Parts: sequence; structure tokens; C-alpha cells
Amino acid sequence: MTPTTPPRPADLEAVFPELAPLARTATRLHPRPGSPSPQDSSIGGPLLWPAREPWPHCREDAHHTAPITLMSLADARLRRRIDLARESREALARPSREGWGYTPEERALLEQIQPRDKPEGPVAMLPVAQLYLRDVPGLRPPEGADLLQVLWCPFEHDDGMPTTAVFWRTAAAVIDILLAPPEPAAMDGVVYVPEPCLVHPEEVIEYPSAMEFGKEMHERLERWAIAELGVEYQNLCIPPGCKVGGYVNWGMTDPYPTPCPTCGTPTEPLLTISGTEWAFDLHHWIPYEDQAANLAWGPAQDGPKRPTRICVSDDNAQIIRVCPASPEHPHTQIMQ
Ligand SMILES: [Zn+2]
Ligand SMILES: [Zn+2]
Repeated sequence: MTPTTPPRPADLEAVFPELAPLARTATRLHPRPGSPSPQDSSIGGPLLWPAREPWPHCREDAHHTAPITLMSLADARLRRRIDLARESREALARPSREGWGYTPEERALLEQIQPRDKPEGPVAMLPVAQLYLRDVPGLRPPEGADLLQVLWCPFEHDDGMPTTAVFWRTAAAVIDILLAPPEPAAMDGVVYVPEPCLVHPEEVIEYPSAMEFGKEMHERLERWAIAELGVEYQNLCIPPGCKVGGYVNWGMTDPYPTPCPTCGTPTEPLLTISGTEWAFDLHHWIPYEDQAANLAWGPAQDGPKRPTRICVSDDNAQIIRVCPASPEHPHTQIMQ
């Protein structure tokens, strides 16, 4: 069952014909917790990785940490399970506060988590996304490739985000699969450990952020959206959550150029990684199938709106951009 995004609350092209030529198709990935295999498209799932190929490691030194939370991957997953159980209990208990907090058993397990030292030397990266072209036709891979794999180092770096590694490959060429990839020796809590999710891609139409237009058009878009629909234009033009392609929902900064570091060609958004799949009260981006669960969980808890459980920096979007001139050129990433 593919989650289905409701239609926009208004036909933007009918009101602003100048938006029509700028419409762009993006693919909402709709990650949902599951048990993906290497043969599945996933967020945080196992990769179809060749046994003979070295596993990517981060070799940068600038790992920003809050030392008190450093833990092993196994402990991070334990911590995640306990937090999910507590959160689900609290959601069901509403409005009563009975049963809030950790149980004595959970507290005992949490106390067993051993703090780890900051890793020295290369840090094994974690799978973030694996997307097959058959599931996401909007991927636009290089000639011959049909599989995108993205990994990250589970620490924030100087740009406030985990460093990422991007690979394109041909799935049929992977015969021997690496079954037990290396794990990072420690990680900064759980926010950069994606919960394994299957994806349910759905194509949607996007329009540029108002910030990409001149002052006059920017103001017309914002005025009309607030007056007619009571929402900001930025909440109409681009969906929240994990997606492939489309536009950048600027707002944390003004739009700025992001040329390819090798050839200077303007880069294009490939993958947007975002912890929150929707805002509690922005119903037009909440798939029909999730609206009842969204209401049941209420605004305070993550619940179904944060299926991957990740949180980039201050709950921002991490956008991986690639050079349209050559897949050989290194990717760049920005945060919004
Ligand atoms: Zn790193
Ligand atoms: Zn380039």
C-alpha cells in the first residue's frame, strides 16, 4: 500500500501561470519501519555491497561529539527500542499521564549502556539510503547504473551534518554480497542511526521556493497563500520529508549557488534526508493512510511522522547535490 499525498489545497498553476513551466517532479520516499533486505530499496537498510569492495570509512578528524552520549551501534539500537516502547505507551495513555517515563526494567537496561570513547582513526559509515531505479524512476542514474547507495558517518562535521558517501552501481554486477559490514566503534547517540525502513515512492509535483523569485513575485505568492489558504507558500510548494529530486525548500538561509567543486556547473538536488515526514497540522502533506495515526499520536510525540527516527542537526533537511555534467564529480551537501 503506497501512501498517497492528498492534492494541494489549491491549483497553484491556475492562480500563478508563471509557475507552470517551473513544475518539477520529485519522489517522496515515504519510509516506513520494516525489515528491508539488500534487494530492497530502503532507508537505513542493508546495502547490496560487493564483498570484495572496501567498505566506506570516514577519514576526517572533525567529529563533533557530546561525549556523554557516545555508545556502540548495538547500544544505540537498544536505546532506540526502549525509547520507542516508552513513546508508544505515552501516546496510548493520553490524556492521562499514567505510565509515563521509563519502567524500572527499561531504566536498568539503559544503565547498562557503556559509554564509549571517541573513535580514533577511520570511522565505518552507516547505510542511509539504497534506492533501485525500478522503484524510483526519477533517480536519473549514470549510464548503465540502476542502484544508488548513500552512507554517512554518524557524527556531525564542521558543516553541522554527517559526511556522506554516494555510490552508483549496477545491481546485477553484485554477485557476492558483503553480509557483515564493519560498524562504527562509537556514535553520538541515536539521531544518526536510521531505523531500517522500506520505502514507498510516490511522485509529486513541486514548485520553486518563493525565495527563488524576485521580491514582487515572492510577496505575491506569500500574500495569496496566507489570505486564501491560511498557510505559507513555503508549506505548499515543496513536501517535507525524504525525497529524490525536486527543489530545495530554502528558509534556513537565502538561496545560494552550489557549483560543482570540479567543473563549476550548478549542482542539482539528488536526495533530501529529513527526519520529519510531515508537520502535525499540515494535513495536505500527510498521506491519507497516515492521517488517523497522526491524530492518534498527537503533536508532541514523533510517532509516525518520524519513521526513520533520525534528526539532522536541529531537525533540518540534509540535501545531497550532484553535478549534472558528470557522475564522476564529487557530490556536495547543504542543510536547510
Ligand atoms: Zn566522520
Ligand atoms: Zn561537475
